[in-house]
Amino acid sequence: MTIFPPLIIPETLAAGPGPGNTDPRVLAAFANSGIADHMQIDVLRGMQEIKLMLREMFGTKNIHTYGIAGTGFSGLDCMLSAIQPGDSVVAFTNGTFSGIDCQTIRMKASAPDDLAANPLQPNPENVTVIEVPHGTSVTGEMVYAALGEHKPMWAFMAHWETGSGRINDLQGFNGACEKHGAMGLVDAVSSLGIADFNADDYPAVVGWASCPQKGVLGLPLTYAPVSFSDAYIETVAKRGCYTYVNHPILSARHWGIVDGKDVDVPAYHQTHSCYAIASFHEALRISLTHGRAEKAADYAFHEGVLREAVTAMGCKVSSNMTSLVVLNLPDALSGREKELVQGCRAEGFAIWPTLSEPVQVRIGILNQLSEESIKDIVSRFADAMLNMGANDVDKDAILKQVKARFAATKA
Ligand SMILES: *Cc1c(COP(=O)(O)O)cnc(C)c1O
Repeated sequence: MTIFPPLIIPETLAAGPGPGNTDPRVLAAFANSGIADHMQIDVLRGMQEIKLMLREMFGTKNIHTYGIAGTGFSGLDCMLSAIQPGDSVVAFTNGTFSGIDCQTIRMKASAPDDLAANPLQPNPENVTVIEVPHGTSVTGEMVYAALGEHKPMWAFMAHWETGSGRINDLQGFNGACEKHGAMGLVDAVSSLGIADFNADDYPAVVGWASCPQKGVLGLPLTYAPVSFSDAYIETVAKRGCYTYVNHPILSARHWGIVDGKDVDVPAYHQTHSCYAIASFHEALRISLTHGRAEKAADYAFHEGVLREAVTAMGCKVSSNMTSLVVLNLPDALSGREKELVQGCRAEGFAIWPTLSEPVQVRIGILNQLSEESIKDIVSRFADAMLNMGANDVDKDAILKQVKARFAATKA
């Protein structure tokens, strides 16, 4: 048997769609937690406090607001588990992640025959997937039209589609669900903790699922925040669902949510890590101390500065999210996106290409909300372009402009 040397993972500049750079305070909380089991009193108290902080993050009074252990897709799996074989669903996709969500929905809504016919990519007739072109948003009109035509039981959309960097119309989605009597389900993986919104302003959206590693910034495998309305929970209570571990009602017990009420004494559901609880608790404290509105404004400002800088380099931005810039390289470098990204990644500057066609470059600013960080990102990206022969990039002038934008905020 081979004994491998200790695994050393280098520090990189995490400037992609996610995971974002984890705050040192979150890592310290992780490392400084004592060992304690999942029913120890402070671990349980931490879970009760997390539950309350998540209601604040989501802007909701939904009792069923808590964390699903794992990553974004763990929370989405929980939310989408309410969909049963044969249920009618209309789902929108405009990029990689909503595409995977639609795959999950097609699996969950499949009857055994549908699944056997194409086990990894089933296509049950009861699911309608509306494909919205990459680089564009799902609009309210599209949702009204599709729900009006199909009158589904469930409707699904991603709030912010990280694959293409596009914000979809949540207001329109909610209105269409309300009008056509559909229960709305939303992937809020990329928007929670960055966008300033209240889930309760969208009452026809009955389920929300987010993740630990984007706006919430609590990476060390922690929790995917979820929030379910009473209508959603009543549906699951009546019909059940085919999972124990990610069950929307059963999972909530460990967070002190039993029979639709907050209770003082939680019940065991699965083992929760004291380290995960301590670090996730700290991540939420950081976000709420920053303030939802303030944080959203800070993202918008910093994204704006980065967008201007890459535009000055001749790139064309097609995204409108405030945590991520998705761009096409100037014509002269077109087709060399992957080469450029690989070059940056080799230098520890971890940007990303798009994962589905067309190939574009994605530069993210999760937890990079400072002049120093944005300058670093702009400077490294300018170097990468210059290395590939984009000689008209005036790096000094662009960095001067970045500096001026920050100076203007201090004046
Ligand atoms: C990142 C992302 C996911 C997947 O999250 P994981 O943490 O990788 O499981 C799902 N949906 C959206 C919109 C995302 O941005």
